[in-house]
Amino acid sequence: KAKYSNVLIKINEAAADFYHRVLASTNAGKRGLDYAQERDLSADIIDHFRIGYAPKQNNLLLTYLRGHHYQDKDLLDSGLFVQSKAGEMFDRFRDRLMFPLTNEGDYVIGFSGRRLTKDKTEAKYINSPETKLFEKSKVLFHFAEAKKAARSEGHLILYEGYLDVIAAYKAGVKSGIASMGTSLTDQQVYMLRRITNNIIINYDGDEAGIHAEERAAKMFAQTGGFNLGIVVLPEKLDPDDYVKKYGSAKYLDEVKGALTPTDFFLKRLTQKYNLDNDREKLAYLDEAIRAIAQLPNPVEQDLYLDKVAREQNVARDSLKVNLLRYRRQNN
Ligand code: ATP
Ligand code: MN
Ligand code: MN
Ligand code: MN
Repeated sequence: KAKYSNVLIKINEAAADFYHRVLASTNAGKRGLDYAQERDLSADIIDHFRIGYAPKQNNLLLTYLRGHHYQDKDLLDSGLFVQSKAGEMFDRFRDRLMFPLTNEGDYVIGFSGRRLTKDKTEAKYINSPETKLFEKSKVLFHFAEAKKAARSEGHLILYEGYLDVIAAYKAGVKSGIASMGTSLTDQQVYMLRRITNNIIINYDGDEAGIHAEERAAKMFAQTGGFNLGIVVLPEKLDPDDYVKKYGSAKYLDEVKGALTPTDFFLKRLTQKYNLDNDREKLAYLDEAIRAIAQLPNPVEQDLYLDKVAREQNVARDSLKVNLLRYRRQNN
């Protein structure tokens, strides 16, 4: 790796080394290591993702970095410390499993820390605050490595959480990335655009995740030129839970079975209506056909028309009459 001169990168890199060492080889890190084991994170994975542990005491990182002659002003700018009213500095992250967040060159620019306990009064994840270096809207976890893997895998896969990216990695998907728990931003869409057109979205299988997939799919469609696949996992599972429950091979099958945006949309639509009721079924068919009429490619239109006709057991030709009517209205 090339040498970096930015002092905020130096501080974040040194902090990553510190947290990692605490986790991997100290008594103070035992709590973190127990939690990491509970989450099925092996020593290899911990090393690869440079996962660390921020100790419980409130100034160990501060002491360490001051010992390395960093100035308090720079330390404050790094976002890794908080200041009391009296001006005293403390470590921001305490008793958390630490995930380093890197820039495109794979240098650490911030962290996300997960609480170890089930105590819901504390935030599950805490991120570094925005700094000159760390702009959440432009950061994607694991991007530096994923963009290399995208060349051989032929796609990038978008996840909700860090542990989902890591679970996918263990299953053999090295092209996984995640945004910082915020919804996808335009900047991130452009970052992906530069690497590949082939994007697979694999958020959590719960309602929030599926809803976020819908929103993300719209953003990609608006930018245009993407070839999208959407994975919806069963039983509200997230990828990490899925791999734990069903194993890597089945997970890879789910990825291979990614839906086209139209299939995804039609499937969502069937869930909006009670298809045992004729009135609702007609409303569903109407909305489905209108959506199909919007597709730019007539072959695609035929494909989905067939599918809907088959699935709902209605005459294809009648649906086609309506499709043609809506198509004329669109032109
Ligand atoms: P875990 O498996 O550790 O419970 P998760 O990734 O499954 O984590 P989700 O609740 O599905 O957690 O949230 C997805 C992502 O949203 C997280 O990985 C994290 O980036 C972000 N996130 C969740 N909760 C918070 C929070 N309280 N503050 C900031 N970001 C959060
Ligand atoms: Mn979620
Ligand atoms: Mn999740
Ligand atoms: Mn999870």
